[in-house]
Amino acid sequence: MASENQSTLTSPENRPVKTSLRGCPVCGGAACEVLHSQKFVLPEGHPLAAGYEVVVCGQCGFVYADTQVSQHDYDVFYARYSKYESNSTSTGGGGSPEDARRLKEMAGCIAAMLPDRQSRLVDIGCANGGLLKELHDLGYTRLCGIDPSPACVAAARAAGAAEGFVGTLSALPPDAGEFDGVILSHVLEHVQDLRQAVAGIRRLARSAGMVYVEVPDAARYVECLLAPFQDFNTEHINHFSACSLRNLFVTQGWHQKSGGGKTLFAAPAMPYPAVFGFFTKDNAAMESGSLETDAELRIRMAEYIAASQAMMQSIDRKIEAVLRGNDSVIVWGTGQLAMKLLGETCLARAKIAAFVDGNPINQGKRLKGIPILAPARVVGSEQPIIITSIIQGQAIAQAIRRLNLPNPVVLLTNDDVPGIH
Ligand SMILES: [Zn+2]
Repeated sequence: MASENQSTLTSPENRPVKTSLRGCPVCGGAACEVLHSQKFVLPEGHPLAAGYEVVVCGQCGFVYADTQVSQHDYDVFYARYSKYESNSTSTGGGGSPEDARRLKEMAGCIAAMLPDRQSRLVDIGCANGGLLKELHDLGYTRLCGIDPSPACVAAARAAGAAEGFVGTLSALPPDAGEFDGVILSHVLEHVQDLRQAVAGIRRLARSAGMVYVEVPDAARYVECLLAPFQDFNTEHINHFSACSLRNLFVTQGWHQKSGGGKTLFAAPAMPYPAVFGFFTKDNAAMESGSLETDAELRIRMAEYIAASQAMMQSIDRKIEAVLRGNDSVIVWGTGQLAMKLLGETCLARAKIAAFVDGNPINQGKRLKGIPILAPARVVGSEQPIIITSIIQGQAIAQAIRRLNLPNPVVLLTNDDVPGIH
């Protein structure tokens, strides 16, 4: 098959069609169409790849990062570099009022499908146990949390889980037993081998067990675009729609009970699209459902890519204007957007005096050979500070103001920085 479709074939829009490195994680299909090529400039020692092509499966229409980084490397990354341990830098712990509301609603939705409070439930990828705490508050006592980070497992126990295990979908704890309900909230978009993961979930579920799955809704990325290519990052390698989520489960002997879309809020005015499904394991009817081709997703992704490109060009012009009047700059934030700006905008050529990051997990590492400093180590100067996070931009600007630094502060959006000019 490989010989027929390297560079000779093209899609209707003249995009290259190729043989996937990874194989479609939903249907196993080999032929795919390249939608976008994404590059990252990574900190030294970072275990993941410095880029990949985003492709659409020629068979089922699923969109995914065609990366050959192994599941083992991802597992090492999530265990060692867990940002999910910190409630201030991630969701999943219920740290913000918006996140607490999101987890309460999810717990209510799960309780409506599994009303028996004696049900044994496991949250895989439980982060700090925010969802388990909400389920505990609803009266569930037989709760279990599984996470690759030992600190997260300890936090889940403290939040009300009777049991906690260090583990991943590819290395499930062998003594965890069987469950009435398996919860996978914002996990499957991170998983390299999806079909193996679904087979593992099947072994964890009792014969009449149920799984609740929630993932970002790629069909609506374009409706909630805040930062360019926000969803094409080092961590999210699978881009689901309602159709592809259904395909993944029903072709492996699960039955869909219900599902739908929702909009989450990371913060006020910061919507994020998600899609969810309840699937039941029915051992009496092992025949698999048929694969449905998703024709819509590639169209929505093309719109998202075009809108992201326009946003990236506008940011590039803004950075260029700052560089024109200054010999060097300080770059505040070394997260997903910074990794892209350093590869794809004029920030790549800038003289960077220092990187700064508020998350201790990034401090002390080096990016482009330049150390990443803690905020308290920044010495005031006339060098502009470019904030390379759109989502956290205002919060970072306020933190800089509290440090009384005299540096001009530049946001990548057109918002004003409160109290700074
Ligand atoms: Zn496929």
